[in-house]
Amino acid sequence: MDKNIRIAIVGGGPAGLSAAMYLEKKGYDNYVIYEKTDHVGGKCHSPVCNGKRYEMGAIMGVPSYFAVHDVELFAGVTHDGPKLNRNYKYPDGRPDYRFDTEAARKNPTAFFFKHPKAALHMKKMAKQIKQFGNLLETKYKGYDVTGHIGVSEGRYEGFAVAEDRHPVKGVNPNLKDLALPFKEFCEKNGVPLVQEVWVQPFTSFGYGYFDEIPAAYVLKYLDFRTMMDFVNVNLWTWKDGTQSIYEALNAHLKHPALLKSNIEKVVRGEKVTITVNGKEEVFDKIIVTAPLQVATEKNPLINPIAKSLDTWFDVNDEERALFSKIDYERYDTIACKIKKGFYPDVSYYIVDNMVPERLGHLMVYYRRWKDEPDQPIVTYALRHHRTANGGKEIAYEDCDKMVLQDMETVGCHVDKPIYRFQTYYFPHVYSEDYAAGWYEKVEAMQGKNNTYYAGEIMSFGDMDETIEYSHDLVERFF
Ligand SMILES: Cc1cc2nc3c(=O)[nH]c(=O)nc-3n(C[C@H](O)[C@H](O)[C@H](O)COP(=O)(O)OP(=O)(O)OC[C@H]3O[C@@H](n4cnc5c(N)ncnc54)[C@H](O)[C@@H]3O)c2cc1C
Repeated sequence: MDKNIRIAIVGGGPAGLSAAMYLEKKGYDNYVIYEKTDHVGGKCHSPVCNGKRYEMGAIMGVPSYFAVHDVELFAGVTHDGPKLNRNYKYPDGRPDYRFDTEAARKNPTAFFFKHPKAALHMKKMAKQIKQFGNLLETKYKGYDVTGHIGVSEGRYEGFAVAEDRHPVKGVNPNLKDLALPFKEFCEKNGVPLVQEVWVQPFTSFGYGYFDEIPAAYVLKYLDFRTMMDFVNVNLWTWKDGTQSIYEALNAHLKHPALLKSNIEKVVRGEKVTITVNGKEEVFDKIIVTAPLQVATEKNPLINPIAKSLDTWFDVNDEERALFSKIDYERYDTIACKIKKGFYPDVSYYIVDNMVPERLGHLMVYYRRWKDEPDQPIVTYALRHHRTANGGKEIAYEDCDKMVLQDMETVGCHVDKPIYRFQTYYFPHVYSEDYAAGWYEKVEAMQGKNNTYYAGEIMSFGDMDETIEYSHDLVERFF
């Protein structure tokens, strides 16, 4: 491809900014990034309180965040943030020892005598986790490569989760099982207990419930290595917040994002014509990292930060048919100042609230800075669950009230909420569409009409998967 082509990138989050970085690295520097808000980073959002940044969006990474590491090297930042610690509570505030692997590991005998039931359960769980690890390596070989190309056809194709991220490709018909909801997938493989561990960085991090979400999403994100890093609290954080990674990346790009860009219309033909802030601009190619969902009567898109793609983009029939299948999670965070004397010693996970029956309840409250009671504690809740007959959605205001009430119940008394963050979270498709080859069809559209699709839906809604997908896209098509 001619290196001088003019490329428009829609969105200044991790996907859009990293697409520009990888394009630059390959010698394409005639690009423009349009960001609709007044800042970059998207869901990596780190506001300031008392001179320190806290996290309302992305918090952490793991050592296998190789693509995020590309950005770190390019932008001159590193994961220099506070060490995370966690503990567990029941919804009524009592301590929950069932997952306290740290205590069990430190002194197994003492742990057994103090919490015999929890110790036995942990042993059973550990056995199934080991079994699961073996299954993933053998029966599901290729499950963890970047993106979803070929999975529904029993193939794998992408970058390996390894230091050198070498391209891998192969045939494995068992991979078709990844279209099943994760709950069914675990039951089919005789390892139901692993859900209790995987749920902690999955459902509580807003990615939905295991009876509705295809195993492919769960395992692309929480491949075995990443999951073990989570279990062992081997995590990365950034002192100035995850948003600072993308601010630094933006500052190092030849053409930083154009903020407050309101794209009114995109018309594609021989060229791509974009009407932005009342002016027409012409490009050769467009990369869209903004939400692709097209709203329908059955699947509406009522969200304060995302609009249906067809309100600003000349969506064609093929795109409409596919993008109307996308749904997203309603996952909201509240930053709370805590009453004197109640600032928690660590972050707390409430595993019993990570099930659909407890929709809308507090799943995690997160403490970023140790012994800094003036810093906010951030709450996390989900308020949408999809079932075969429609599912349930809790209104934003009702969920907000439930969460603040839960904070009282667990003994983390809130002085006042200081900031609320509502997002368009984790776009995905459901099992039936995944199995019917949704990804194969969208991948086959890449490049048609001078258009490329990137961002969360194309891989998974975390920093590393979105950046790695942008990497993959640039490698494949530019
Ligand atoms: C509460 C929370 C916790 C999270 N925790 C983690 C975590 O610990 N680790 C992790 O790896 N990930 C985490 N994530 C997920 C991570 O933040 C996202 O997966 C990542 O930011 C996705 O990058 P993206 O560029 O695809 O989308 P986004 O971050 O959503 O960025 C999209 C950008 O496009 C802009 N945009 C949208 N529409 C338009 C338009 N029409 N025109 C111009 N611009 C547009 C938006 O304003 C935004 O800046 C978390 C997210 C949240 C909300």
